Amino acid sequence: MKCSKCNNKAIIKIPYSNLALCKDHFIEWFERRFERIVDKYKMFENSKKIAVAVSGGKDSTTLLHLMKKLSEKKGFEIIGINIDLGIDMGKQYSSKSTEFALKNFEMLGVKYRIVRIKERYGFTIDDAKHKIKRPVCSTCGLVKRYTLTEIAEEEGADTIVTGHNLNDMAQFIMAGYFNGDVRDLARLDIITPPEKGYKVTKVKPLFLIYEKEILTYALVKGIPFLYDSCPHTFRVGGATQDTIRRKLEELEEAIPGYMLMLVENFINKIQPALKEKYIKEEEIGHCKICGRPTTKDREICSFCAVRLKMTGQTINIK
Ligand code: SF4
Ligand code: ZN
Ligand code: ZN
Repeated sequence: MKCSKCNNKAIIKIPYSNLALCKDHFIEWFERRFERIVDKYKMFENSKKIAVAVSGGKDSTTLLHLMKKLSEKKGFEIIGINIDLGIDMGKQYSSKSTEFALKNFEMLGVKYRIVRIKERYGFTIDDAKHKIKRPVCSTCGLVKRYTLTEIAEEEGADTIVTGHNLNDMAQFIMAGYFNGDVRDLARLDIITPPEKGYKVTKVKPLFLIYEKEILTYALVKGIPFLYDSCPHTFRVGGATQDTIRRKLEELEEAIPGYMLMLVENFINKIQPALKEKYIKEEEIGHCKICGRPTTKDREICSFCAVRLKMTGQTINIK
């Protein structure tokens, strides 16, 4: 297979664009595509300092490299944030993740913060798995969102970027339809404005980029990343989520560009309509423990409820 742009051997096929690309042309195409998406959706128009959430996996480490390049071009500042969630399960998953994040921070010479939730909040995700009734990934998601927002604010960042890719988005949308989670779908923004009184916007710059393209980019650029999956991945929501993901890949094989259309149409046409119908400007209350925003009728936020259950502590009372 020859590259569509030169005579070299192609390393990847991009069926939805009818392209086959060699290493150099793929890198050029991929970086340009990333920038075009960022510009089209005006992702960083008002950003001065961007916090990049880096777990150590292929998506977030690739995102860090792309954001570093973009920051030099557009003149914003970046800071990498890695959260050590305390997931071990005999595989040292979190410590390995942090090791890979650190390798990338040092390789690129970017400023960074590494936050260990055991030290900061007094519990780990492995501990929470046994003590908290909600699924472990839901607790983990809550802890990650809370910690990221807190650290980004401490660092004076106005934007947080995360590495959700196109396959993640397509899976989330299909699972949302399957479960009838209309509110979750309505909240599936790619640019989430800050809560009232706060200033951190959350952005998913890889939302239109296929997992396979990210993996290829990471490999050809020699980006160090952790291959292992989290040991909790297959325990929660496992079989159904996994099947949805596989079936989406099969659909993509049969109809090139299927996931791209699914996600683009959802974000451009369906989500804004759902948002208008289901997400009202909710009145916001403030958590009695940490002071962060929570729904009006709740005294403490979900994170503090988890932390209280895990440690019995109410630190930082405001
Ligand atoms: Fe957290 Fe679940 Fe992801 Fe593991 S798979 S890092 S527990 S959200
Ligand atoms: Zn070429
Ligand atoms: Zn709270």
